[in-house]
Amino acid sequence: MNRDTVFIDGQWVKPHGQAKIDVVNPATEQVLGTIPACDAEDAEAAVSAARRAFDGWSATTVEERVDYLNKIFEGLKDRADEIAQTITDEVGMPLKLSAMIQAGSPIGQFKGMTKLLPTFEFEKKVGNSLVVREAMGVAVCITPWNYPLHQIAAKVAPALAAGCTVVLKPSEVAPMNAFILAEVIEAAGLPKGVFNLVTGYGQEVGEPLVKHPEVDMISFTGSTAAGRRISELAAQQIKRVSLELGGKSAAILLDDADMVKAVKGVFNACYINSGQTCTAHTRLLVPKSRYDEVKEIAAKVADGWTVANPNEETARLGPLVSKAQWDRVQSYIKKGIEAGLDVVAGGEGKPEGLETGYYVKSTIFGKVDPKSEIAQEEIFGPVLAIITYKDEDEAVAIANDSIYGLSGGVWSADEERALKVARRIRTGMVDVNGGAFNPIAPFGGYKQSGNGREFGLYGLEEFLETKSIQM
Ligand code: NAD
Repeated sequence: MNRDTVFIDGQWVKPHGQAKIDVVNPATEQVLGTIPACDAEDAEAAVSAARRAFDGWSATTVEERVDYLNKIFEGLKDRADEIAQTITDEVGMPLKLSAMIQAGSPIGQFKGMTKLLPTFEFEKKVGNSLVVREAMGVAVCITPWNYPLHQIAAKVAPALAAGCTVVLKPSEVAPMNAFILAEVIEAAGLPKGVFNLVTGYGQEVGEPLVKHPEVDMISFTGSTAAGRRISELAAQQIKRVSLELGGKSAAILLDDADMVKAVKGVFNACYINSGQTCTAHTRLLVPKSRYDEVKEIAAKVADGWTVANPNEETARLGPLVSKAQWDRVQSYIKKGIEAGLDVVAGGEGKPEGLETGYYVKSTIFGKVDPKSEIAQEEIFGPVLAIITYKDEDEAVAIANDSIYGLSGGVWSADEERALKVARRIRTGMVDVNGGAFNPIAPFGGYKQSGNGREFGLYGLEEFLETKSIQM
């Protein structure tokens, strides 16, 4: 899986940057391939190509763009198994889940755009004005590793649909899937320069892309720290920046909730992808009087989350993505133990029999202080903090006591009651009684979880400018 070219101006070219980056399989700790570490000159070439392609691409008809998006959808669908395996190998998600989430969801994003685009109102009359929605221009898309192709598709599909040209800089940790997408786009025959792929590190190629004067907007998903840096750089040229960042989401179990069902649901929302999910419900808020009961249920549920090699049928939790991520999660588990927290499940080190690979024990801490690091910082591993509250107002206050505002959950036997609480939570998304993920609902956060919205109509609008023409 060694890649030594990147996709610029419709061609696979040797990049200017000579260095290579190892991509590691987290289950084996072996290098599975290398990718180029592009530099500022590669960023320049990619942006120039995207700029040259913009006038033509933005003038294509909706039908033409739908046709191209359909071809990309078909191309990805034909390679779905390969995509799932590739992402399992680079991220560590169990293969069965990978097929559904890591491959199925991004493929669906392209299909979704083909359906939405013909219904979108690109022009409307407002008084004596014609209000037209036009493509933003050259869009730089920078993405993380946890749901790599999903996050790419959530940007590239609406950007192309809107008429933007794109430079994609995927995560250097899980970049192989992006090469598959570039091959599919090449085969779909998009005009040269409409889609460009450069790979490498954030500072070396990401920042030159962000700073480039010919770039009109940046769509970024990743850590809050990198989002802050990108915003600062982009502010110099008043560029539009759309940010999808970190989270520390709370699930509130109201006193009338079915506790077994609720705890199982919270685990699904917290542990998926080994907790490496921006929307993970990592704080479980329970009434003080129900703590012992919930703790017992949680310990049992955690037991059912088998940690294993992601290629094994039994695996529900694979390894963490990297050694760096493993060290980070271990340091939080250590802190929790040193703080004397109630260790309901898990703890430090690797699970027995899984010495090779970045595996962690799924861990639950009980009676966590809502102000502590464990309750405030994004750990990005399978670590759940149980926090107790005395009444509904306190539950809402604890849920909202965070620099983040991405997601959350409310569980109750009374849906109306749950909905009232959901409205009080200051986050971009809230699931009531485990409400299912909706790929056309707006996805994004309040506060330091970001400022953009992805998916469906909301995702498309991120890539559009608004012009009023007075008649
Ligand atoms: P990261 O911020 O380290 O990297 C994300 C991307 O940004 C990578 O492609 C990286 O190379 C690039 N990058 C880093 N610094 C940069 C800079 N200065 N300039 C330009 N590009 C730069 O994040 P990660 O470790 O890949 O992903 C995990 C983080 O992403 C978590 O905080 C998680 O919560 C967040 N995330 C958010 C969402 C969301 O939609 N809100 C979704 C998934 C992940």
